[in-house]
Amino acid sequence: MNSPRVFSGMRPTGRLHLGNYLGALQNWVVLQERYECIYCVVDVHALTTVQSKEDAGQVQGNIREMVLDWLAAGIDPKRSILFVQSHVPEVLTLHALLSMVTPLGWLMRVPTFKEKVRQVTKASANQSEEALAMGDEHVSYGLLGYPVLQTADIILYKAQYVPVGQDQVPHLELAREITRRFNRTFGETFPEPQARLTEAPLILGLDGKDKMSKSLNNHVDLAATPEETAARIRTAFTDPLRLRRSDPGRPQVCNVYSLHKLFSTDSEVKTVYAECTTAKRGCVECKGHLAQNINAALAQFRQRRAEYAANPAYVDEMLAVGARRAHAIAKATMAEVREKMGLTPAPA
Ligand code: SF4
Repeated sequence: MNSPRVFSGMRPTGRLHLGNYLGALQNWVVLQERYECIYCVVDVHALTTVQSKEDAGQVQGNIREMVLDWLAAGIDPKRSILFVQSHVPEVLTLHALLSMVTPLGWLMRVPTFKEKVRQVTKASANQSEEALAMGDEHVSYGLLGYPVLQTADIILYKAQYVPVGQDQVPHLELAREITRRFNRTFGETFPEPQARLTEAPLILGLDGKDKMSKSLNNHVDLAATPEETAARIRTAFTDPLRLRRSDPGRPQVCNVYSLHKLFSTDSEVKTVYAECTTAKRGCVECKGHLAQNINAALAQFRQRRAEYAANPAYVDEMLAVGARRAHAIAKATMAEVREKMGLTPAPA
């Protein structure tokens, strides 16, 4: 019997950082053991917030950097399907067809849509509704239709599971509603995708305030050199009340300590706690210790990444094979969708 199918995608943002690795990528690697996994670089999604040709060009350039991180982390193209979203254009047809059964109100109510409107219009929380009402030219249909495209991504491959954190469950619920509506209208076609909950830790950035993110520049690239990693960690915010080296620190409010819990041994973490709270260690020393452990944990990853980076032909071929495998599934699904919707079969 075939394993249940999992679908997940990432926008091509270039090199991934520690937060991406601990929050998603490590889980993707584990899922390969039990499921048939389809991992997609969602380049069309990335275009929803692009506003110039230069930005669009960057999206394509970012694909390879991200895929190198996937491979180095252990995503295995022999077991999983890795491909680029726009290389299987059936997803765009399904997006258009699903948009026929998706009420506008469902999309307008999506909290992330309102959030994105604020980002692209640079409007405040109050202004965003107004910007919408005024038809701000930066608010594209693509932005509004983002969840429809996401639904198309998942159900085109008839995926049963989507790995999500608790905070993303409502997003998946909309995909499930669109799927149900299609099935009700045109007959049972797609499995309703289920959330495969992951308990990924929330990784704060070097500012110690917000989630680690490239756009906030509070991140550490997985592919950084040991020296770059140490330099980045040196900029991390620590306990704001620890003004002098002789002040005892509060590790419980310090993100360097949180990162130690992820990259240092239990006994090292106990030592950090004890030495910080008694002012036996300074923050500079503590950060150096953390950087050393992060570098040790990522040494193998970085070596593998360099090997893949030196072989661009392999990466291209791997993505081409992935696209062919994804396309075979997509073609069969779309033949069924066309038939259910009463569209004449597409000529061979
Ligand atoms: S010693 Fe370490 S854990 Fe304590 S405040 Fe400084 S960086 Fe944070």
